[in-house]
Amino acid sequence: MAGMTADISPGEAERLDAEDELAAFRERFVPISDPGVVAYLDGNSLGRPLRATADRLQELVAHEWGGRLIRSWEERWLTLPEEIGDELGRVALGAAPGQTIVADSTSVCLYKTLRSAVALRPGRDELVTDTANFPTDRFLVESVAAELGLTVRWIEGDADVAAVTGPRTAAVVLSHVDYRTAAITDLAAVTRLVHERGGLVVWDLCHSVGSIPVELDAAEADFAVGCTYKFLNAGPGAPAFLYVNARHHEAFGQPITGWMGAADTFGMAAQYVPAPGIRRALSGTPPVLGMVGVQEGVALLAEAGIDRVRAKAVALGRWVLALADAWLVPLGFTVASPRDDDRRGGHVTLRHPDAERLSRVLIENGVLIDFRRPDGIRIGLSPLTTGFAEVRRAMDRIRELAG
Ligand SMILES: *Cc1c(COP(=O)(O)O)cnc(C)c1O
Repeated sequence: MAGMTADISPGEAERLDAEDELAAFRERFVPISDPGVVAYLDGNSLGRPLRATADRLQELVAHEWGGRLIRSWEERWLTLPEEIGDELGRVALGAAPGQTIVADSTSVCLYKTLRSAVALRPGRDELVTDTANFPTDRFLVESVAAELGLTVRWIEGDADVAAVTGPRTAAVVLSHVDYRTAAITDLAAVTRLVHERGGLVVWDLCHSVGSIPVELDAAEADFAVGCTYKFLNAGPGAPAFLYVNARHHEAFGQPITGWMGAADTFGMAAQYVPAPGIRRALSGTPPVLGMVGVQEGVALLAEAGIDRVRAKAVALGRWVLALADAWLVPLGFTVASPRDDDRRGGHVTLRHPDAERLSRVLIENGVLIDFRRPDGIRIGLSPLTTGFAEVRRAMDRIRELAG
């Protein structure tokens, strides 16, 4: 807490680990086989693999694929996108069944939902996004604007939403948690404001899903997308998800009208007729191998509970801030993330003028953080795998290597 000197002793790290209700979940992950890794603080870019995923993948290749062969499509695979989507919606998104589906990458899901949103607001010719948004979001907003002849209104921070939205706003694209600073945007308040102006919102949940509770239905959200390979540990390139609120189901369409989103996939119809409900968001054949990791990641999160995950993320964030204040601020680091627990997501970003070089040195020394241009060192905190002593060890190395 501000103004107080926090206890950052090794004993305190030990105490925090001993009291950690989620500590046992670490055993559910594949041990880090590289002995050179001192600490893994980049789980918000790529979560660690679950043992269950490794087992399930082998089982799938040997039996579902190797034994049941083509019959597995009918027996289990075809409905996985909505089955896993429903469970993800229940466990992490505050979404009732039938609104969430696993598909594609976040980028493709963003394209689909943004095009849907614009089509639902005919006559409106402006898109709104933040200059600090993740590159793929900014690039897609620009390309959809170019494709449809719309204008992009750029904002700098969510406080600007009120100033730029109005009768011309078709859709606003924002991230719930900022990928650089971890600042949380008030999803419900921004959604309400944009709705008052008659526009729709597409939320990017990449840095929130599996880290902080999201309440999409309660917020009357329109569209949301997110990836599964960060806090959900689904694996490199595992498919993304998209959410479309049920009140849009009758009217919404999407531009990649493949057979998997058609009403009768195997009817080989002459014309595309969209499937009812969220299924129409699909395009091609679902990525079954990649979905195994999503299924296991969501199942583990269900066991841990998103509220406990969030509570530990907050505690880990405080721990990083206490260590940074004691050891790193005196060395010229500054804290770029909000200090208010309620405004900070699942990572802490520190700034340092020499961050790029320092990040390289840290990674060479087994402290796996990530560098974010121009001067950010991002300390990613994955509550199911990150420990307090691990964080202390990493911060101690940063102090040593930066000193
Ligand atoms: C990681 C991330 C993405 C990634 O998009 P992909 O299509 O999965 O590569 C998109 N948006 C945000 C905010 C992210 O953090």
